Amino acid sequence: MPSDLSAYTTLRVGGPARLLIDQYESLVDTMREVWESGEPWLVLGGGSNVVIGDEGFDGSVVRITDAGFEARDNGDGTVRVRASAGHSWDALVAETVSRGWAGIEGLSGIPGTCGAAPIQNIGAYGQELASVLVSVEFLDYLTGDLVTLSAAELELSYRHSALKGGRLGVVLSIDLALTATADGLSEPIAYDQLAGALGVALGARVPLADVRASVLQLRASKGMVLDPTDPDTASAGSFFTNPIVGENFARTLPEAAPRWLMEPEPADRVVPLGEEPAPPAERSDFRVKLSAAWLIERAGIRRGFSLPGSKAAISSKHTLAITNTGGATATEISELARYVQTRVFSEFGVRLQPEPVFIGLEL
Ligand SMILES: Cc1cc2nc3c(=O)[nH]c(=O)nc-3n(C[C@H](O)[C@H](O)[C@H](O)COP(=O)(O)OP(=O)(O)OC[C@H]3O[C@@H](n4cnc5c(N)ncnc54)[C@H](O)[C@@H]3O)c2cc1C
Repeated sequence: MPSDLSAYTTLRVGGPARLLIDQYESLVDTMREVWESGEPWLVLGGGSNVVIGDEGFDGSVVRITDAGFEARDNGDGTVRVRASAGHSWDALVAETVSRGWAGIEGLSGIPGTCGAAPIQNIGAYGQELASVLVSVEFLDYLTGDLVTLSAAELELSYRHSALKGGRLGVVLSIDLALTATADGLSEPIAYDQLAGALGVALGARVPLADVRASVLQLRASKGMVLDPTDPDTASAGSFFTNPIVGENFARTLPEAAPRWLMEPEPADRVVPLGEEPAPPAERSDFRVKLSAAWLIERAGIRRGFSLPGSKAAISSKHTLAITNTGGATATEISELARYVQTRVFSEFGVRLQPEPVFIGLEL
C-alpha cells in the first residue's frame, strides 16, 4: 500500500506517513495498539476535510474502513439508526431516503464517513447533523475508555464540535434519530435555493427522493459531489466557513452583502405581554453570518483564479472551493488560501477561517 497520503485525500495533497494502517477487524483494538506504541497518530476517513502538509505525517495514520449500519423502528414514528465510523455518509443518506426516513435528505452528496460527520457537524441546504444526532460511541484517548457522548457533550455548532476543538479520541459509531414518514415526505424545506430548484415554497414538504435528487444536482453544478471526471472536485469542499460577525460590524458592509441573523433571535420578535422591547444597545451582540463566497468574489477573486505558476486554483464553479488542478503541493494550496484571506481582509476587514483540518502545516 502506498504510504503517500495524497492518495487518500480528496485534495490530493499530503506527503508520506511513517506508518499507514488500514483498520483491521476491530477499530478499538487497532487504536489501542497504535496508542500503546506511543507514536504520534492520526485517523482518516474519506480524507475529504483535511489539508495534509507536503512533509506528510511522522507517525501512524489509521484509515477507518468499517462499514455497516443497523436501524430500529421505535414504532412511534421515529427510527434510531446506528452507523459504523467507516460507513460512507452518502450511502447512509441514500439508504434512509429509500426507506422513507426523513432528517438527513438535505445532506445528500457530502463525501466522507459517518464517523467524521460529527467532527465539524456537517451541514448543507438547510439541514445539519446536530438536528438528528443523538450520541456517538467514542474511544477516549486520554482515559482509554469506551464512552457514549451525547450530542450535547459534543458541543456541536456551525462547522465545529468539541472533537474538532481538540478532544482526543476516535468516534466508533454514530446514533441518529430520524423520522419514519408514512407519506415519504421530507422535513420542511429550509433553504431558498433548494426550494427554488424544487419549485416549492420554503417550508414545503416534498418526496424525500426529490430532495435528494435536487440536492445532488445543485451540488454537482458547484463541483461539490466527488466525481473523478470533474477536476473541480479535487478539493476539500468549501475551503472557508461563512464568517460570523457582530451585528454592528455587519452594518458597515455594503448593502448587497448577504447576511443571516443567527442566535440569539432579536428580543423584539417575541415580546411577552407587559414587557418593553429590548433597547437597541442590547441588540449589539446579535451575531450575523456572512457569505464567504460573496466576500471572496467582491474582493476581486474570480472562479478559476490561480497564482502565477501555481497548480492550486479557485474552482471554476464556485469561489469557495480551492482545487488541485493536477500535481499541486499543499504549500501551493495554502499560499492560495492565504492570498484569498489577505484580499478579503484588506477589502472588508473580515478574516476568513479555513473549514478543513490542517495537519502538518498552518494557514
Ligand atoms: C466535494 C466536497 C464537498 C463537501 N461538502 C460539504 C458540505 O456540504 N458540508 C459539510 O459539512 N462538509 C462538506 N465537505 C467536507 C467533508 O466532506 C466533511 O467534513 C466530511 O464529514 C469529512 O469526512 P471524512 O471521512 O472525509 O473525514 P476526513 O477528512 O478523513 O477527516 C476529517 C477530520 O476528522 C477526523 N476524523 C475522521 N474520522 C474520525 C473518527 N471516526 N473519529 C475521530 N476523528 C475522525 C480526522 O482526523 C480529521 O481531523 C465536503 C468535502 C468535499 C471534498
